[in-house]
Amino acid sequence: MHELALAESVLAIAGAHARGRRVRRVTVAAGALRQVVPGALTLAFALLSAGTPLAGAELEVRTVPAVVRCRDCGASSEQDGFPLACAACGALDVEVTAGEQLLVEELEVEQEAEVSHVR
Ligand SMILES: [Zn+2]
Repeated sequence: MHELALAESVLAIAGAHARGRRVRRVTVAAGALRQVVPGALTLAFALLSAGTPLAGAELEVRTVPAVVRCRDCGASSEQDGFPLACAACGALDVEVTAGEQLLVEELEVEQEAEVSHVR
């Protein structure tokens, strides 16, 4: 299950950025071409984060559509399935410019507790 490996890298990246603070929510941008199953990634994340500072954090998966640039006419077009083809001229000789990424986009951490002095 490749979501397990993805969850592992999300945990490593988010953990490094959290620097010990409690994390409420992690937002991940997953390119459509990675074919991530959001539910499986969320589950793997919940499993692996147990006992770490990220335990209980909510994982939000944002799917980023694939975009290709045509090597024939130079047009860029968003893709909604396979095969990848230029929407302008139909050529199949295209270069993927988006849709392969898996990025930790946002981290919502708990505010550091404010120390209030009574006296
Ligand atoms: Zn084209």
